[in-house]
Amino acid sequence: MSLIEISNFIGGEYGPAQSKRVIENTDPSTGTVYSTLPRSESVDIDRAVIAAKKAFPQWAKTTYEERSEILIKIAEGIEQRLNVLAAAESRDQGKPVWLAETVDIPRAAQNFRFFAGQILFQQDEAHDLSGKGFNFSVRKPVGVGGLISPWNLPLYLLTWKIAPALACGNTVVCKPSEVTPMTAFLLCDILKEAGVPAGVVNMVFGLGAEAGDALVRHPDVPLISFTGGTTTGKHLSSAAAPRIKKLSLELGGKNSNIIFADANLDEVVQTTLRSSFLNQGEICLCGSRIFVEQSIYKNFLEKFVTETRKLKVGDPKKSENFLGALASQVHFDKVRSYVALALVEGGHIETGLEEISLSKEHEKGFYMRPTIITGLKTSCRVLQEEIFGPVVTVVPFDSEDEVIEMSNSVEYGLAASLWTNDIRRVHRLARQLEVGTLWVNTWMMRDLRTPFGGMKMSGLGREGGVHSLEFFTDVTNVCIKY
Ligand code: NAD
Repeated sequence: MSLIEISNFIGGEYGPAQSKRVIENTDPSTGTVYSTLPRSESVDIDRAVIAAKKAFPQWAKTTYEERSEILIKIAEGIEQRLNVLAAAESRDQGKPVWLAETVDIPRAAQNFRFFAGQILFQQDEAHDLSGKGFNFSVRKPVGVGGLISPWNLPLYLLTWKIAPALACGNTVVCKPSEVTPMTAFLLCDILKEAGVPAGVVNMVFGLGAEAGDALVRHPDVPLISFTGGTTTGKHLSSAAAPRIKKLSLELGGKNSNIIFADANLDEVVQTTLRSSFLNQGEICLCGSRIFVEQSIYKNFLEKFVTETRKLKVGDPKKSENFLGALASQVHFDKVRSYVALALVEGGHIETGLEEISLSKEHEKGFYMRPTIITGLKTSCRVLQEEIFGPVVTVVPFDSEDEVIEMSNSVEYGLAASLWTNDIRRVHRLARQLEVGTLWVNTWMMRDLRTPFGGMKMSGLGREGGVHSLEFFTDVTNVCIKY
């Protein structure tokens, strides 16, 4: 089988890394290499930044309406290729095709539609200085943005950065995850067809420590938008600091589901299945610590385990499979090591160790059954560290104060789901839980205008609606004396 060759896209042209070196890309559903991507280095990043700098003055001069129209055309291009992109995303990442078709790819198109509208309604400030003068703000694009994205929702998270960056008049150099490069590569043709001028979006593939690091340190890239792990985020903070770059960090999480006895148990169980195991648990917002009020703990656990055992795992192309494969061998090994650690820490595996029946084609894929652990203390590593896979731990609690303390006991602060019908409790917990997003009786609902992001080690800055437009622009305040 010949391998698909992914190319860089710089200044509107496709091409290899200057060194001609490549990285192999594995299909996690079969464990076989099916494509290669350029192993780009600083010299390739330099070329891309030069192309982006050259394209910047002209793109920055386009009107909001012109940019908005182009963004709509990109959205249409994604929608027209929905099936191709969904199949590509599934093959790169291991997720079920049905999930890519119904969530990832439509949401990627929606990102462009959303910012196509948002940019037309941007408002700037003006203030009269008590009759003595007049202040107003001028917003302008920042320049060349460096956009670095992870592998779990590859096209969705990359376009969540490209769309607002372009809407605000910036040009960009993107460094998608080396684990899932395919949809970013396919996006380049869509950008061309939509009329995005050469150099406005450049795609450079490669390893984080090489291409990614070169982008973060580049003196002509004043802005970095990063989504990925907290360890990488810390590294980026120090790499970007000497040049005081604009930096947005969307990092890891260790989210909690807090379930009180007054919640609707059937609804809780169904949503908790999704919030635990959707996309193999590889969504930064998945809840991996499930805290249940003591009086319903046994009942909840029984139902949750029964329903989890019914979830099918296997070939991502088959619509009956709720879970596909984990994204890579390295990640698979890491997630499984936490199941082994749970046993060392004194935990009990309620479900997850049963065998998975796989076809010959898929037996080398990175499959794992959804796993539920009990019997652990919140201070255990399994309950403190991000696992980012289909592994959750269920822990009982006795009081509101105790569960707040348990939920806040981690270094992360991304999200939590609260299950209760007591409105006063909702208000109390919203003030005390250290999270950027709190869902009440639901999970993963979000208006794209709301400020999204994490507290503590889960990130820096907020994205969404005007928050993204603020990040991707610089502002000059002008003061005129009457
Ligand atoms: P990662 O940090 O390993 O990689 C993310 C990106 O950073 C990749 O493109 C990688 O090549 C690049 N990179 C790695 N080292 C780099 C370096 N030294 N300099 C510059 N770039 C570098 O993360 P991952 O494993 O791809 O993604 C999973 C993580 O992402 C999880 O921790 C998850 O919680 C997090 N995540 C967070 C959000 C959010 O919105 N907060 C969303 C999705 C994923």
